[in-house]
Amino acid sequence: MQSNQIRSVVILGGGTAGWMSAAVLARFLGKLDIDIRLVESEQIGTVGVGEGTVPIIREFNGVLGIDEREFIRRTQGSFKLGIAFRDWGHKGNRFFHPFGDFGEYIEGISPHHHWMKLRKLGNTTPIDDYCFSQVAAKKGRFAPPPREMQPGLPSYSYAYHFDAALYAQFLREYAEQRGVKRSEGKVADIEQRGEDGFIRALKLEDGTRLEADLFIDCSGFRSLLLGRSMKTDFIDWSHWLPCDRAVTAPCAKAEEFSPYTTATALEAGWQWRIPLQHRTGNGHVYCSRFISDEDAEQALRDNLDGELLAEPNLLRFSTGHREVFWKNNCIAIGLSAGFMEPLESTSIQLIQTGLARLIEMFPDRNFDPIITAEYNRVGRLEFERIRDFLILHYCAGQRDDGELWHYCRNMPLPDSLQHKIDVFKSSGRVALGAEESYREPSWRAMFLGLGIYPQRYDPMVDKIPQEALRKKMAKRVENNYRIAETLPSHQDFINRHLLATHQKIATEK
Ligand code: FAD
Repeated sequence: MQSNQIRSVVILGGGTAGWMSAAVLARFLGKLDIDIRLVESEQIGTVGVGEGTVPIIREFNGVLGIDEREFIRRTQGSFKLGIAFRDWGHKGNRFFHPFGDFGEYIEGISPHHHWMKLRKLGNTTPIDDYCFSQVAAKKGRFAPPPREMQPGLPSYSYAYHFDAALYAQFLREYAEQRGVKRSEGKVADIEQRGEDGFIRALKLEDGTRLEADLFIDCSGFRSLLLGRSMKTDFIDWSHWLPCDRAVTAPCAKAEEFSPYTTATALEAGWQWRIPLQHRTGNGHVYCSRFISDEDAEQALRDNLDGELLAEPNLLRFSTGHREVFWKNNCIAIGLSAGFMEPLESTSIQLIQTGLARLIEMFPDRNFDPIITAEYNRVGRLEFERIRDFLILHYCAGQRDDGELWHYCRNMPLPDSLQHKIDVFKSSGRVALGAEESYREPSWRAMFLGLGIYPQRYDPMVDKIPQEALRKKMAKRVENNYRIAETLPSHQDFINRHLLATHQKIATEK
């Protein structure tokens, strides 16, 4: 051990962020003889939502060595090929944000340019039909793509839906088996060093004192260490993303067990539908300036497709982030670092990328401010890029049935987003910046889905003779439908998956 090595870490909070942090630290620091302790309060509880994810969650489980079948079984999980957007842009509009593209590039040119050319020539095939994920999703089919890419097979990715509380429990077992210790109790006081503000110890209500070199703040919206104790300002983005509340409720599992999330725009917000094995998760995210809590709850109830299983739960939030995520010897992960509404299920992703950066830049007891500044620089960019992607969902709408949509249509946009919109309108290109979580296929899907079309297609498309292009593109759609038919239904796939796990466990015994 180097003399300055971190010897102890305390994680405050046992929600998804806390136990994800504990699992990652146990996995990567396990052999370094570092004492890792998590403190949480059952009395305070967790936020208890967070059911949708994006594909990089698979990398997270992968580095921890978690078996997918075991994970799906333990978390009542299901599979997610993307998000079906309903009534965004205008009422009756339907489009899909897939974890995949609209097919392979042709002659080095993105398929949406070829689609635009055919569209100009009168072809009415919707762009979504060129995307395999969308076709499979529409048909309710799912199987993971083969590990090795095979010629002729469309490429796509997938993520999960799961019960966040069960996931935290699952990770708790993982972390505790690898040496993480847990303390139950409420933090009543935080001791800081007078000379530089570093945290020295957390004091629990029962008098226990927890000292550490490094503190990870996973205390949720309270942001007890980084926000309250270290007085780190909150950068508020409510003027761009004005939704500030959610009313959530589970309902009985419906017949439609879709391998995707549904996000339906409503008058003052939108509603999610997330199918899990044992229930369907629902939430109405809304802007409290434009609808009362009572009306928001009623809207949620009116849009359920199964019997309500619990009374609706109201959550309040602000969109934005702490000015820095890492200060002195304290790093905030999860809601304590910031929050953007769950339209694209990005919070667990931000937990994951925050942890990946922490491991990459793991400090010693000198806490070099250069490393801290770099961690914060990348984190800020990442937040801003996702923010822009979310704003796009709102600002491009033509809906005229609610003040929210009127407000969003007329609000000044961040320059970075305005630039992306202008470039796409002018040329069909996506002007990606650094630290983008969402790559070209996602931006293209949202632009086109919301009705933002480029003025022209890429002139290079004209290299391909019209008839040959028509045939090639028609073949793609045909292939997508044909291959999708060969996949099992989402439910069948899960049944087989679980069966496989039970058999494996039985054989091992
Ligand atoms: P919490 O779950 O709030 O945990 C905080 C922990 O800190 C708890 O264990 C609590 O006991 C502890 N604590 C606090 N104060 C003290 C104290 N004084 N003493 C001791 N312990 C203390 N994310 C996604 O990725 N996908 C989604 O689909 C999604 N949907 C969401 C929908 C809504 C409406 C909201 C609000 C969030 C959603 N999120 C989603 C975000 C997701 O829920 C969170 O990112 C995730 O659950 C992590 O929360 P957390 O662990 O940071 O905080």
